[in-house]
Amino acid sequence: MPLPAPTTRGEALAPALRSITAPDRVSITPTDRLAYARDLWPRGLLGLEAGDLGAHPPDAVVWPETVEEVQAIVRLAIAERVPIVPYGAGSGVCGGTLALRGGLVVDVKRMRRLVEIDPASLTATFDAGWIGEHLEHELERRGFTLGHFPSSIMCSTLGGWLAARSAGQCSSRYGKIEDMVRSVELVDGRAEVIDTAREPDGEHLAQLLVGSEGTLGIFTRARLQIRPAPEARHLRGFAVPRVAAGCEAIRRVMQRGLRPAVVRLYDELDTLMALGIHATSDAEPPPAPAPEGAALDRWIDEFGGREGRRALGAIRRAVVGAALSHPRVLNRAVDAVLGRVGRGCLLVIGVEGDARLAEAEANATFREIEAAGGRDLGPGPGEHWLRHRYDVSFKLSRVFEAGAFGDTMEVAVSWDRLMDLYRTVREAVAPHAFIMAHFSHAYPDGCSIYFTFAAAAPTEPGEAERRYDAVWRAALTAATSVGATISHHHGVGLSKAAFMPSEHGESMAILRALKEALDPHHVFNPGKLGL
Ligand SMILES: Cc1cc2nc3c(=O)[nH]c(=O)nc-3n(C[C@H](O)[C@H](O)[C@H](O)COP(=O)(O)OP(=O)(O)OC[C@H]3O[C@@H](n4cnc5c(N)ncnc54)[C@H](O)[C@@H]3O)c2cc1C
Repeated sequence: MPLPAPTTRGEALAPALRSITAPDRVSITPTDRLAYARDLWPRGLLGLEAGDLGAHPPDAVVWPETVEEVQAIVRLAIAERVPIVPYGAGSGVCGGTLALRGGLVVDVKRMRRLVEIDPASLTATFDAGWIGEHLEHELERRGFTLGHFPSSIMCSTLGGWLAARSAGQCSSRYGKIEDMVRSVELVDGRAEVIDTAREPDGEHLAQLLVGSEGTLGIFTRARLQIRPAPEARHLRGFAVPRVAAGCEAIRRVMQRGLRPAVVRLYDELDTLMALGIHATSDAEPPPAPAPEGAALDRWIDEFGGREGRRALGAIRRAVVGAALSHPRVLNRAVDAVLGRVGRGCLLVIGVEGDARLAEAEANATFREIEAAGGRDLGPGPGEHWLRHRYDVSFKLSRVFEAGAFGDTMEVAVSWDRLMDLYRTVREAVAPHAFIMAHFSHAYPDGCSIYFTFAAAAPTEPGEAERRYDAVWRAALTAATSVGATISHHHGVGLSKAAFMPSEHGESMAILRALKEALDPHHVFNPGKLGL
């Protein structure tokens, strides 16, 4: 496929953009435009597999360094009626950065000043372009933590977290990014700078802007609540008989006022994936013992013995093989196999903080889980998780290489409807895709479910996309039917935009009014967030 030639609009805008920033901070080259033509929305990756290199290339990419430059770019976009797509690191999985109508992609990664760390109020102020891992490292070396560890920490920015209401792996203790924000600075669609720190009640005003997914303006800076780095961490695995029993144990822990940092309950199938149980056949040697300890290894063995390992091996191979073309049959077969050889679900719990408090909290948490029927597996499963905490999401590309597609859906609901949500989504997706789930963000009032699904990608033109859309339609229809939110932390972007009215109903008027007030020329990120 030929690279996209510069557009007339891009060529016309480039000189003005260069005079605002610098000659080397504006690009209209085909390679840069292609690099910014997609994010990590799996549907876009289907196009890539089919040879479609540039789904939505912008006319130009620009890298501002100061808030004044951002304002000048917005003024130019208003004058020339050109859309702007704010851009962090492109790790979004909902198509939120696609330049649907061309225009400017404004990448803020060069905005990366650490403005201030205030140890007295335990706050830190960072520019929005900071990559998560670097930001956390800056805090760590001063003895602090933000407590925000999304699996994409190495490839996502502070601005992207704020835009999509991101959640890290320790959200059950530290909250989501919106819980950590004390104030934000945003250049809106009128080219005005809104700094909520100037308002007496700025913390609450900031909440109106967080989650706007680039539709109201560009986040340029934020003041965040930080914490002392934890002195101690206690990780423990438990075997629970069923998903419902595990959820009940977590609910009891959270509602008792305990705040574990890590809470991860895997359903029967996801337990296999989480433990990395080996796919064995008669021809393969027995797997090496698990490095994390005898209790874990015993449990893996107990999980099915030799017969079980072979059956489970077959399941794992089927997931990326032809069986994905028959998801309904595959889902039933897996349920039957797990019913015969499976031994329940894995629950990983981790408590951290001040040494003495963490020890007391860990004891209380672990006792509560045992009282709810959990069997202690020792620290092994938790240490295994910690060692591989950023691995799993990056394995999805193998599924695409094997002629299939995979995706994840993170929805959330109150405790009373959690099992309904789990069952309803599984039943709705089962005819279309292979499905499993884990529960990894728990709160006193409810919990999120992280579904993973995979299906074969037919090679006929457009068929893979049609199947992909059918899976998502089924999943989101099922989730909204039990009153769940369609996004716990990935955001809405393009992929879930059509479902915004089903979730928000009349409240959509609030979002529309905010859009009209802050982006009256409709410059920012058209087509996203259902606006
Ligand atoms: C492997 C993998 C694992 C992931 N794990 C997690 C996880 O654990 N938790 C989680 O929350 N998410 C996760 N995600 C999703 C993704 O990392 C988050 O949505 C993240 O917040 C996006 O940040 P980004 O900087 O890459 O934003 P981008 O992808 O560049 O943009 C995302 C959206 O935010 C807008 N935006 C970006 N920067 C700004 C800004 N400065 N001002 C205004 N709007 C802006 C964009 O216009 C777009 O709508 C994962 C993604 C991948 C690929």
